[in-house]
Amino acid sequence: MQIHIIGTGDAYASSRANSAIVVVEQDFKLLIDCGPTACHQLWSNPVWPHLDAVYFTHLHPDHALGLTSLINRFNSSGRRRKLQIYCHKGKEQRLQQLVEYGFWSDRKNYQVEFILIDPETENGSFEIGPLQCQSEETFHGVTNHSIQLQGSNTRLFYSGDGAITPAGSKLVESCDIAFIECQAMSLAQGAGHSDFAKVKQLANSMPNVEFMLYHIADSEITAMSQAACEYVNINIAIQGESLKLK
Ligand SMILES: [Zn+2]
Repeated sequence: MQIHIIGTGDAYASSRANSAIVVVEQDFKLLIDCGPTACHQLWSNPVWPHLDAVYFTHLHPDHALGLTSLINRFNSSGRRRKLQIYCHKGKEQRLQQLVEYGFWSDRKNYQVEFILIDPETENGSFEIGPLQCQSEETFHGVTNHSIQLQGSNTRLFYSGDGAITPAGSKLVESCDIAFIECQAMSLAQGAGHSDFAKVKQLANSMPNVEFMLYHIADSEITAMSQAACEYVNINIAIQGESLKLK
């Protein structure tokens, strides 16, 4: 499994792009989330024309609005291959609007296939290409589905936005690497985001999991980078980096 870290910023980051990663397993290339400023970073990575699918954790603008630009760029660059969009049931209507906008005023050169995830009928487990997946909701302002992706040798967790639930931490526990949204050093109870105080508890109880923090507010970056140095398994995710796992 290979991971390209596209963006690490929150909704209003001044210099970092909106948080997004590309996961490559065998030849399958999956983009997770697509905010408007993530596209700018995506264009600078040669992986983008080869994307097979996009998964959305939730539909806040900083995680979804870039879909219009992505659809539009694929169309104008002559894509003929189908693009798959994976999302949980109920999210498809808004995403469909973004897709239509992306094709608006142009001939539609390729198909977009929506694949709806319904954990109740899928027994909590589903496939995205060669990846075996499970998801859990987080505590967030809108419904956010964190996701565990299992490749042939590696398990990855990506939280999307929001604090991890006990069920979500069970998914983290069995992973090699976990990307965790971490807005600030410390947030009030019920804030709807994760914070460093919560992450360090998880990291202490899961020494075999490599924690990668992203979606950190501009004002918190310095303090969090310093705090992360104290923990062997907490890292600040760096935009533009690519990681090869095993
Ligand atoms: Zn966000």
